[in-house]
Amino acid sequence: MSALLVIMAAVFGGSTAAFLPRVAHRLGVAFGESPRATCASCGRDLTGWVRVGASCRCPFPYAMTPLTGAAAGAMLAVSLGPSPLLPFFLLAAVPGLLLALIDMRCLRLPDRLVAAVGLLTVVPLAVQWPPRIGPALVAGGVVLTTYGMIALLPGRGLGLGDVKLAAVLATVLGFAGWPAVIVGLVVPHLINGTIALTLLLARRGRPLPFGPALLFGALVALTTA
Ligand SMILES: [Zn+2]
Repeated sequence: MSALLVIMAAVFGGSTAAFLPRVAHRLGVAFGESPRATCASCGRDLTGWVRVGASCRCPFPYAMTPLTGAAAGAMLAVSLGPSPLLPFFLLAAVPGLLLALIDMRCLRLPDRLVAAVGLLTVVPLAVQWPPRIGPALVAGGVVLTTYGMIALLPGRGLGLGDVKLAAVLATVLGFAGWPAVIVGLVVPHLINGTIALTLLLARRGRPLPFGPALLFGALVALTTA
């Protein structure tokens, strides 16, 4: 794994992420609503989907998005190295980061974006390692069933979008083996548990999005396990 590869992946991740604030702002609406046409902060027209940088001309912090995209790209390059899988995973990080942004805005994980992440990762993995398809599907199935049952319990704060994303990510990590699946499941709970406790101690308890933690957990699992 060369430094040049990591830098190129970081540049790809950062520059694609620079386009996402506008898309996330428009898609960050309640289920069934059509995409937002005006800025939620200033009411200005949000015509078009393609804009580099902040979602709107009104002041809105956005530097974190390209930085996160660059970090995700670099982590993928470090974990996968010069593999034919890397371009697919870098592409999958684009809908992945968009999912995190939308979930933070409105606690939703649109199915089509979850499917895009799944297709861009699971299909190339299945082509690369056919013998691992079985264990990967078992990992995805186990997570789908257990998280699905937890989501059906009242008041658990786990949405069906979280269940589907967790199952997709567990399938991806299943190709790397059970240690990766477990890291990918434990890290998100540690992250959201810590944030929830902090908010509780500050008496600012509120529903937390789980998607960003799931996606970050999968990245950590790919890099470490
Ligand atoms: Zn605005």
